Amino acid sequence: MKLARRVANIQPSPTLAITGKAKAMKAQGIDVVGFGAGEPDFDTPDHIKAVAKKALDDGYTKYTPVPGTPELKDAVIAKLKRDYGLEYARENIIVSVGAKHSIYNVAQAFFEEGDEVIIPAPYWVSYPDIVLLAGATPVIVDTKEKSGFKLSIEQLDKAITPRTKCVILNSPSNPTGAAYTGEELKAIADVIVRRDVTVLSDDIYEKLVYDGFRFVSIASFGEEIRKRTIVVNGLSKAYSMTGWRIGYVAAGKELVAAMTNIQSQSTSNPVSFCDKAAVEALNGPQDFLKGWVAEFDRRRRYIVDRLNKIPGVSCLLPQGAFYVFPNFSKAYGRKTPSGREIKGSSDLAAYFLEEYKVASVPGVAFGDDACQRLSYAMSMNNIEKGIERIEQAVKDLR
Ligand SMILES: *Cc1c(COP(=O)(O)O)cnc(C)c1O
Repeated sequence: MKLARRVANIQPSPTLAITGKAKAMKAQGIDVVGFGAGEPDFDTPDHIKAVAKKALDDGYTKYTPVPGTPELKDAVIAKLKRDYGLEYARENIIVSVGAKHSIYNVAQAFFEEGDEVIIPAPYWVSYPDIVLLAGATPVIVDTKEKSGFKLSIEQLDKAITPRTKCVILNSPSNPTGAAYTGEELKAIADVIVRRDVTVLSDDIYEKLVYDGFRFVSIASFGEEIRKRTIVVNGLSKAYSMTGWRIGYVAAGKELVAAMTNIQSQSTSNPVSFCDKAAVEALNGPQDFLKGWVAEFDRRRRYIVDRLNKIPGVSCLLPQGAFYVFPNFSKAYGRKTPSGREIKGSSDLAAYFLEEYKVASVPGVAFGDDACQRLSYAMSMNNIEKGIERIEQAVKDLR
């Protein structure tokens, strides 16, 4: 069978691939420590589950409006007002089947052949492929450890060409945990307005920030930037609802209308009883988050401290999300006990998993071959055990 040309350039999500492999090893009874997880290890809060159960019992199981019910849109609007002080109308909001689907629909409605989309690296694995699937060209701009994995305004200004349509920002970042301050975002917003491009702001980790960091929405620096901002968010990370598949976009009404048409011809509405639960998540109590953030924070400090004590490894302290992105490049060129040379992040991840039973995601998947992504969304005991294995694996290289 001859497949469509558009699939030739894209790859399966490497994060899902590595977690799949680690799960398969676990199923064989192998004691694998998995740093691959891209989701919180907490359960969805009970008050949210209760609403979904009731919706099912009440027979709320049929088609609903394609872009989300008015009630759910209003909950999103109230959240954006409460958290950022921004006013949106229902016609500015569309709810989709997870934030990944939101970004996919933005790309389908907004990007086309000839468009360039700027993506700072390290980036979330799906951005380049979603841009490619829309026929547009991802323009990768490397940021480095020494700049805190953040894009400078000089880099941004230089990367913008007459073909640039959009810049994708993800703060706090998956995979680095780096987060832009309000001041940094204001400077980026100024460039975006001056060069008359747009920004897709993926805010999915906004609630998971540490050390008193204050998340600011780039859309909040005035009308000029707000009308050029596509806000993307979802419930997966802040409410530990990855399986429920609820994400949303706040943007200009033309874009939202186009996305709604696309959605009406593909997935239709987000799952009915999940939309009820989403209203509860957004409007209900938020206090559980404090405990989650405190627990993530404890693990974050521990894992960064342990990694930095491994000779040749360096790791920045992330401001948000639940990942660390340590640099292992000093291990490259060395040999494993069985004589294989470690040439890059994929070799290292394979060595960790096969010989030390510890799963990490190679940095090359995120556009930075020097690093590995380790998720600390797991128990402290497992983190300890996993770090010990990594420490040993690095020490055993010669
Ligand atoms: C997890 C994640 C998403 C999407 O999550 P959904 O489960 O599709 O809502 C989007 N962006 C980043 C950076 C993520 O890590």
